[in-house]
Amino acid sequence: MDDEFRPVLGEAAALAGRWLDGVRDGAIPPTADVESVKDALGRRLPGHGPAATDVLTHLASAVEPGLIRMHSPRFHGWVIGGAQPVALGADWLVAAWDQNSALRSVTPGVVAAEELAAEWLLDLLGLPGGAEVGFVTGATVANLVGLICGRDESLRRAGWDARTDGLAGGPRVRFLVGAERHGSVDSAAVLAGLGAGRPVAADDQGRMRVDALREALADGDGPAVVALQAGNVHSGAFDPLADAIEVAHAAGAWVHIDGAFGLWAAAAPGLRHLTEGMAAADSWATDAHKTLNVPYDSGVAVVADPGVLHASLAQHAAYLAAYAGASDPEDRVPELSRRARGVPVYAALAQLGRAGVAGLVQGLADAATAIADGLAGIPGAHVLNDVVYTQVCATFGDDERTRRVGEALRAGGVALASPSAWHGRAVLRFSVSNWLTDAAEAARTVQAVREAVAVTA
Ligand SMILES: *Cc1c(COP(=O)(O)O)cnc(C)c1O
Repeated sequence: MDDEFRPVLGEAAALAGRWLDGVRDGAIPPTADVESVKDALGRRLPGHGPAATDVLTHLASAVEPGLIRMHSPRFHGWVIGGAQPVALGADWLVAAWDQNSALRSVTPGVVAAEELAAEWLLDLLGLPGGAEVGFVTGATVANLVGLICGRDESLRRAGWDARTDGLAGGPRVRFLVGAERHGSVDSAAVLAGLGAGRPVAADDQGRMRVDALREALADGDGPAVVALQAGNVHSGAFDPLADAIEVAHAAGAWVHIDGAFGLWAAAAPGLRHLTEGMAAADSWATDAHKTLNVPYDSGVAVVADPGVLHASLAQHAAYLAAYAGASDPEDRVPELSRRARGVPVYAALAQLGRAGVAGLVQGLADAATAIADGLAGIPGAHVLNDVVYTQVCATFGDDERTRRVGEALRAGGVALASPSAWHGRAVLRFSVSNWLTDAAEAARTVQAVREAVAVTA
């Protein structure tokens, strides 16, 4: 076996190391497009391929020009983390162990690490200790899990069993979402059969208005699911969670919270107030591949009542029933076969500890504040949002100029932010979600923006 695996893994580690050496200072944008990478890879399936190490060496040299340095501490596009070394290492072990992590009794090693990671997550995020946790691909699927549970449980309370009878012919489930929800909530709702939902008005920071939620709930009756947001991608703002949950519960609705990156505010004492009251919700979605900086893909679905989650998602195939006992990983997620993606979460939490997680999250928010302060000092730049968390939204004059500054920033290669639109204006959105982004890197980002503004003058 030594001869089969070790040279290949040694080569992979060397190639990965070469790539990661450039993380801090290499130019961010790719230099090759998809078609030229295909040319470099070779488009023909070989009759007989070369040795495994040769395949990897060729793969890396052909693909690298087409890689974007999302791992850079000055990559502020979308909401993207950069894998921490311990989590990347654990992810490699997961791949090497090659466990199909569906059942406790079959793969106890990785299930143990995942179950501890789940307990620790609930503790760090201030969620109920009895909640059930599923390790899914991302917040989109975590949102799907929460919405499916909400759909099924609110129908059950209305006397309809969706698991047995499906949705057609049953009561209609009202779905209420904030006007500034993330698009992935819409995707999840479509998959869950809830449709587009009724948008509830938001305030100037994108927070759902509780008076508007109360009105929307009063305008109808029957089963209802309300999706709240912890962390708006443009402003970083949190819906008024405590009040919104109270209003929704008073109307008998299920409450789900999309906190893909925002739930983590609960782990930092200086930011925890943003999540006040969120533990009273019924389900939550978050990502570990964003704020916690573990490799893709790593989302976390949390449901307060384990019975509800199992009723919606557990598989009851006869051969699986042979392993009856405590709930199995396959009872907590939509998938059956899957990698043990909770193991890198365990490793990241084990290394950081409670203080380390708090420091990580607070550090991201501090760097966002530093970027906002720096941008405010650039002539013509204007920060649109109250910077309460990790997101900064800025304009640089009219829409056209803002777009050109974004393009110049990207072309410069030193820092990258997302061109977007918010409240009818073109904006450049800076997200801070990388563990490497400290005050010095925030200053380099601001300097790169200053230069982009200068070249577009
Ligand atoms: C990123 C994000 C999502 C989607 O998460 P994925 O991990 O990409 O599926 C959902 N909601 C919010 C607020 C996000 O930032």
